[in-house]
Order: sequence, then structure tokens, then C-alpha cells
Amino acid sequence: MIVVMHSGAKKNQIDDVLQRLKKLEFQIHLSEGVERTIIGAIGDKTILNEVAIEAMPGVEKVVPILQPYKLVSREFRHHDSVVRVGELEFGGGQIHVMAGPCAVESSEQLMKTAELVRKSGATVLRGGAFKPRTSPYAFQGLEEDGLKMLAEAREKTGLKIVTEVVDPRTVELVAQYADILQIGARNMQNFFLLKEVSSANKPVVLKRGPSATIEEWLMAAEYIMSGGNYGVILCERGIRTFEPYLRNTLDLSAVPVAKHLSHLPVIVDPSHALGKWRFVTPMARAAIAAGADGLLIEVHPDPASALCDGPQSLTPDNFADLMNEVKKVAEIMGRTI
Ligand code: PEP
Ligand code: MN
Repeated sequence: MIVVMHSGAKKNQIDDVLQRLKKLEFQIHLSEGVERTIIGAIGDKTILNEVAIEAMPGVEKVVPILQPYKLVSREFRHHDSVVRVGELEFGGGQIHVMAGPCAVESSEQLMKTAELVRKSGATVLRGGAFKPRTSPYAFQGLEEDGLKMLAEAREKTGLKIVTEVVDPRTVELVAQYADILQIGARNMQNFFLLKEVSSANKPVVLKRGPSATIEEWLMAAEYIMSGGNYGVILCERGIRTFEPYLRNTLDLSAVPVAKHLSHLPVIVDPSHALGKWRFVTPMARAAIAAGADGLLIEVHPDPASALCDGPQSLTPDNFADLMNEVKKVAEIMGRTI
């Protein structure tokens, strides 16, 4: 529920409400606006006499949050959240493009990609060091050596780094190197992993599971936020449908829906949705037109020799074209890249 304090509520009145709620074992999330204080209280509302809270001095009203996700919900926070990654802001007027190879393969491959995607306007370098592969015989990633290469690329280019974390036991390690942690589609409902990243001091890109409903996706975000990490960026990356031509079906309707239900920034990964590079640019354009706050794009200097996801990877030249196309749509949408 949300406790809305009067605009002129005194500090001691706010403190009294907070104490009362804490005594009832509610988890408190305080939002001190310029005009008024709003208290988000998460817990077992059956033990609460809401009328009594409403009767406390300084309280204007108590509003229940009807959705199963609370902190993630628009009811909890009406304005769009901005997630900060250093000087970058996700969910503000600027659109950010994260680009890079599916997997970090070598220092040379990564550095070459990093320099080229930066030149075209990407602000974040992506690259998996721990790869969750469908087959146990496929390349599994360079692990910590890959993380070191990502950190080196950041040093040289100034790009921020996003990389996937697949195991609760390596969250601390990955967080030492990454600017943004990525939770992959296959792990969207790995609740132990979600809990672990909820206490990491790094923003999280949370991919939608291939068969997850929007509500399940938002509940996964709630796990991260309820543990104290408010830096969640949602990522639509395609869902499984009856259509076999593409790897997945990009559910662009999820962008306005997630933004309607939630205040969190939403980005789109057309690469994993489509699985074929030639369709990536048109759907990247469409994602921005649908209101996405950013893109995640796979780029490889030589897709034909990529160890992972070559067919969907753009060459650096194709990526430069994508950026030009996307900029035009962003302009129409009143946003910058
Ligand atoms: C990836 O980003 O490389 C990846 C594995 O994506 P997803 O989790 O969306 O399949
Ligand atoms: Mn990939």
C-alpha cells in the first residue's frame, strides 16, 4: 500500500507513521518529493488496520496497490524512473544503444568491436563472459578472462560494460568488473539469482523469459527491487510462439504495456528475438517508435566466424546503418541518441 502524507506533514508525523509500519513488520520504501512524502509499505496487509494509519496525524490517505508487483508498479511511482549508469541515464530523454558480440572471444575481437560501435554512437559495450548455451558442448565463455577483457575495453574506449551473470556464486565477481549486470532470458525466474543481484550495487538489465508473461517479468523485477536494488532496466528479447521462421517473436506490444504498468525503463533486443541479422534494423526502428528507451544489439567484426550467434550479428558497417536509421526515428519521437 501507499501512505500519502499531507503536503504540510511534519517530520515527527512522518516518523510516527514509519515507526508504526516498521513495528507491523512492513518493508518501507520512502519517497520524499518536493511537495509531499509518499511511503510505500510492503507486507502482510491483513494484519493492518488501514483506517488507523489513515487516522494518524499528517496522513492524507492510504491507497492499496492492486497489482501483485508493488515497487515496480506505476501505482507506486507515477513518474518514469531514470536508472543511472555513471553519467548515462536510462529512461530519460536519451536513447542508449548497447552493442557488441554475443560472447567475448578474444581481446582483439572485443577491442575491434568496441572501437567501431563507439564510433557509430553506442554508449555501452555488451559481451558475454559466462554463456548460458542450449547445448553443453557449445562454447561456454572465457569467464573471468573475458571480464578482464571487457574492463580493458572500457578503459580504452570509455564505453560502459554490460555482461551476463548466470550463477548466484559469481554475482560478486561479475559485479567487480561490470557497470550493468545482465540477467538472461533463461534465468528470468531463477529467484536465487534475482535475490543475489538485488543486493549487488550495480544496475540490472532484466531480460524477459522466452515464455514469460509480462506479469511474470514484472514479478521478477519486483524480486530485484524488493531486495533494495532499484536500478532495473527491463529488456524485451522475443518470446516463443508458433511462428518458426524467426528465432523468437519480438513482442513489441510489451514495450508500451510494460511502460503502462511500470515506471521502469524498457529496452529492446531485436537480435535474439529475430535470430537473423537482416531483420534487426527494421525492428530496432520499430522498437524506438514503440517507445523503447534503448536497444541491445549483437555486433561482430566477422559474424561468419563468431563462436556464438553469428547469424544474428551485424557487421560494424551494418551497425552503423542501424544507428543512422534509428536516429531518424528517435528524432521523430523527440528523443536523442
Ligand atoms: C545474450 O544476450 O547473449 C543472451 C544469451 O540473450 P538471451 O538471454 O536473451 O537469450
Ligand atoms: Mn547472443
